[in-house]
Amino acid sequence: DEDSALLTEEDHDDDGVPSVPAPPVLAIVGRPNVGKSTLVNRIIRSKQAVVEDVPGVTRDRVSYDAEWNGKEFTIVDTGGWEKDARGLHQRVAEQAEVAVEEADAVVFVVDGLVGATAVDEAVVRMLRRKKKPVLLVANKVDSQAQMAEVYGLWNLGLGEPHPVSALHGTGTGDLLDAAVKAMPETAQHGGLVPLGGPRRVALVGRPNVGKSSLLNKLAGSERVVVDDVAGTTRDPVDELVELGGQSWRFVDTAGIRRRQHMAQGSEYYAMLRTQRALDKAEVAVVLLAVDEPISEQDVRIVQLAVDSGRALVIACNKWDLLEDERRYYLEREIQRDLAHVAWAPRVNVSAQTGWHKDKLAPALETSLTNWEQRISTGRLNAFLGELVAAHPHPVRSGKQPRILFATQPSSRPPRFVLFTTGFLDPGYRRFIVRRLRETFDFSGTPIEVTMRVRE
Ligand code: GDP
Ligand code: GDP
Repeated sequence: DEDSALLTEEDHDDDGVPSVPAPPVLAIVGRPNVGKSTLVNRIIRSKQAVVEDVPGVTRDRVSYDAEWNGKEFTIVDTGGWEKDARGLHQRVAEQAEVAVEEADAVVFVVDGLVGATAVDEAVVRMLRRKKKPVLLVANKVDSQAQMAEVYGLWNLGLGEPHPVSALHGTGTGDLLDAAVKAMPETAQHGGLVPLGGPRRVALVGRPNVGKSSLLNKLAGSERVVVDDVAGTTRDPVDELVELGGQSWRFVDTAGIRRRQHMAQGSEYYAMLRTQRALDKAEVAVVLLAVDEPISEQDVRIVQLAVDSGRALVIACNKWDLLEDERRYYLEREIQRDLAHVAWAPRVNVSAQTGWHKDKLAPALETSLTNWEQRISTGRLNAFLGELVAAHPHPVRSGKQPRILFATQPSSRPPRFVLFTTGFLDPGYRRFIVRRLRETFDFSGTPIEVTMRVRE
């Protein structure tokens, strides 16, 4: 029957997002001014990393593509700290900790002229807990005469120190040989990196909302079928569509073609296909039809899109059919059923007449831009500092959890980590998320905020 035929197709087709495993990640950690940026510059052989002589300049964790002896890897420079006499020890360690957690190997840089300091020792304790391969680097060893301090670094218990002069480039080759040996082939936490090319859009929505009509209208005669797997029209296809001066890849439009063959009842398979399209996409357009009430299935599809962590645009189709009276109820339904995605840009369209079809591309771009947004550690902590000063966490049984520090370790979608001294109330968390959205523009993207509680 229809359902089992579909299931077989699902099994056969696992083309997924065109992507490759991410290369391994090498985190560079160490105190301010030990020469991390200089070393990174040396490794990537360019002047991309900003080297600042000004003390106290806030820099962010930045990552770079690097390569040594044909092996590709990603370097994460943990420059972002705030020069704050009281919190400095802790902040350097916290920055390093986040970077280390996501790294496959770590280069721990100490100043070879100074030797190990108390801050260095704090970092070492953290590194021990993480159980990642660590390469100890003694930097600023510009000459043989400066080797004396280097031997002292054996005491840190991280094995042999690698003497390096990032400034002159001596010792970096041996270091990279060792680093490449210490790293796995691909990133442990990196998942897949999408290949370049057009942005990938999943156009999803329950049957009959107008997905096929909209795609036809958008594409006009330019509609290009990219993949026609196994040569039958019922197989999933990606289509390239020109919108707003750029090319977009509408992924897995099988559900669209297949509509006529689909029993209306097999929502389960419709949801499976929706999920698969979302998995392959960067941004989802959830299409609703305004001539009918928003249904449970509409809401479930919106939820799938949000849970997939993709950027999101809500498109309200069949606007040509909207009567004044219905319009009032539509807005109420949206406020009630889609309140949790009030951050998503909304476009009203008519696939039939083409009305507002040019509004879609700008909305996609906004959502994708914000989905990829990174907030610098400096801005983030300045924002939190002000927020917490004005609205401290309520005291609970004599205790008041504090937020020590925050960072955004990744984007697509933006993910934040708050280091706190205790568990934050759910209400207070929601408050922070709301303010994050108000302060920085996160329209069109889900955001994730997690807590790390310290004793
Ligand atoms: P970061 O804060 O750890 O990223 O340190 P930077 O890369 O900004 O370097 C701090 C200072 O140390 C800068 O003035 C660099 O020029 C200097 N420096 C970095 N590497 C070396 C080195 O190998 N030898 C010497 N003599 N100075 C270095
Ligand atoms: P799909 O199942 O989501 O792909 O929906 P279709 O594109 O097949 O559209 C379902 C029905 O709605 C068809 O009869 C379309 O002609 C009609 N339709 C789609 N978009 C519009 C629109 O904007 N206005 C009107 N009046 N009808 C539309």
